Amino acid sequence: MESNKSTGVIESSPRRVWVMRWGHRPSRDARLTTHVALVARALGASGIFVTDIVDRGLEHVVNETVENWGGSFKIETGVPWKKVVENWKGSGGITVHLTMYGENIAEGDVLKRIKDTEKDVLLIVGCQKVPPDFFSKEVSDFNVAIGNQPHSECAAVAIFLDRFFEGRPLRSVQQGGQIKIIPQRRGKRVARRNMENRSVGDRSSQASKPMNWTTI
Ligand code: SAM
Repeated sequence: MESNKSTGVIESSPRRVWVMRWGHRPSRDARLTTHVALVARALGASGIFVTDIVDRGLEHVVNETVENWGGSFKIETGVPWKKVVENWKGSGGITVHLTMYGENIAEGDVLKRIKDTEKDVLLIVGCQKVPPDFFSKEVSDFNVAIGNQPHSECAAVAIFLDRFFEGRPLRSVQQGGQIKIIPQRRGKRVARRNMENRSVGDRSSQASKPMNWTTI
């Protein structure tokens, strides 16, 4: 599913997970919300809604990461959370609220029930204490605990996505981007995408075309 910019409306395509981060305060939560977004991206989510408040700085950091490291992860900030939920459900998706009070992911069958719906998932995480509404069936189809102990939204998102996608995004090949890591037993090896040098006077081409990688 793809999100329609600034409305949260989702349009049909293969099953996806988006994160909805509620309660973000740009001055206090910049680092943690950035980490939630980066974790979501690295572990297979398609995008993140940071609701109710526009944060261009956060959008910039996340978009820059996508430009450098590839993929098609999206960020939208400032959409009211009720609208995001309404649009998501209205487009046929389900909502999963991550909360330590919910059904324990490691016990029972909550993950199986979520997967069995075969629907796109909006993964809701708080920042501050969430409104009581979030536990209701009008907002959350499932309330899921990543263990019933308090910890972090980053850890909760990471563990849910890892179990949901069964580790596949950790293995997948990088799509696009300008930089990639060549894994090493020790030390660091990084490659940068080359740009083709066009001959002087070649006016037929507008821009340089990405070609291959050079280790830097
Ligand atoms: N103090 C807040 C409260 O009383 O609800 C909790 C803040 S907690 C650091 C921020 C978010 O992390 C929560 O809203 C929830 O989404 C997520 N979270 C923390 N522990 C969790 C757990 N054990 N299982 C699932 N989500 C969890």
